[in-house]
Amino acid sequence: MPKFCVKVYGCQMNVYDADRVRTVLCSRGWEEVSDESLADVVMITGCSVRAKAEQKVWSELGLYEPSWLKSQRPIVALTGCIAQRLGEKALARFPYVRLVAGPRHIGLIPNAIEQVTAHPKSRINLLDTDAREFFGLEFDAGDVTIKRENKYKAYVTIAHGCDNFCTYCIVPYVRGRFVSRKPEEIISECEMLIADGVKEITLLGQNVNSYGKDIGLTFSGLLRRVAHLDGIRRVRFVTSLPQDFTPDIVDVMAEEETVCPSLNLPIQSGSTRVLKLMNRKYTREEYMEKVRMLRERIPDVGLTTDLIVGFPSETEEDFSQSMSALRELRFDLVHSAAYSEREGTPAATMEGALPVELRLERLNTLNALQDSITLEINRALEGQEFGILVDDAAPRGEGFLQGRTPQDKVVIFEGSKKLLGEFVKVKITRAEAWCLHGEVVS
Ligand code: SF4
Repeated sequence: MPKFCVKVYGCQMNVYDADRVRTVLCSRGWEEVSDESLADVVMITGCSVRAKAEQKVWSELGLYEPSWLKSQRPIVALTGCIAQRLGEKALARFPYVRLVAGPRHIGLIPNAIEQVTAHPKSRINLLDTDAREFFGLEFDAGDVTIKRENKYKAYVTIAHGCDNFCTYCIVPYVRGRFVSRKPEEIISECEMLIADGVKEITLLGQNVNSYGKDIGLTFSGLLRRVAHLDGIRRVRFVTSLPQDFTPDIVDVMAEEETVCPSLNLPIQSGSTRVLKLMNRKYTREEYMEKVRMLRERIPDVGLTTDLIVGFPSETEEDFSQSMSALRELRFDLVHSAAYSEREGTPAATMEGALPVELRLERLNTLNALQDSITLEINRALEGQEFGILVDDAAPRGEGFLQGRTPQDKVVIFEGSKKLLGEFVKVKITRAEAWCLHGEVVS
């Protein structure tokens, strides 16, 4: 029986894609192993959105150099958006990389893996030439159970690629243009997951709010359909784009009990001038208005954001506007990053690049502010009770479990593993900036 090993570096989209490939290989008689030295094929899937993740994958590829290997070398397959960006280079540099496949060729990967295994010395290049071409990998309900890490929570991709071309972002170049999945495929996948014990589904896409634009549907319509599925307990979605986050989506969030009151709405900068340079098509004021609309309808919503500091030409004034946006909007959590150039994007060649030290200094200043805001918000939750889906054992030690509040905050509490997959009510006893601690009350 041929053996394979999957190593994923990067975002949830890559985890989702890798799960599909491993599902098909297993259904064809392959055995998955975690020890790569036992594998015939090692599939390395990586993200190229951040330079750091990309560097990690590149050095991982180097580990298969003959001088480093004690045992027989496996075939290496490089997949994901990193393959789309660096696949040609990887084929040229590493002779043992025998397959490169971009994210839009996901459906062709299992056959390609079997081909390179059957034909020694063969090498396959599945990189996109047409940014709208897509070779999907669909599953019919009841046909095959998708392998995934968590038994109770699952992601379902609803759209591929992105048409927004934010000037700092590599996604439209490596994941291609925006394509919505057919609603029947999405619903069928959700039903299959629910039948397999999944209680919480997160709809996934680079910009979920654009769902349906290319096929005459709306995201709010899809969200409502998923919210009504038999057996579903919680629905989330990620990521939203402010200009496409419309009142009809807020209506569904407010009206449907199964849709969680949590939202990630990336602001990226608090300065309208910088937002324009980033090609984000909203102003600071328009963003604030969206948040006001959201909080008016759903006062207890958990709101997180993404923010970049040190974008080319960002002035002290621009930066102070990002700081003031955090003070005014009081996000539950901010995924912050110092700007890093991604080759091939317009921002990489913009004038006014800031010294890396200044970018990091601003990042530290911003993080210190947000940590104090997050801690204040979390401390106000002490004594409150939340319904939690117990989704895993906590990494902190024996006897501890974890789950998330409807607002998407991690809670750690003591309990028996018998509670895994159950909903419990947990009272918050102590708050930290990164998680809450609690005790089960029912
Ligand atoms: S919306 Fe902008 S940041 Fe998000 S994936 Fe598309 S181009 Fe990248």
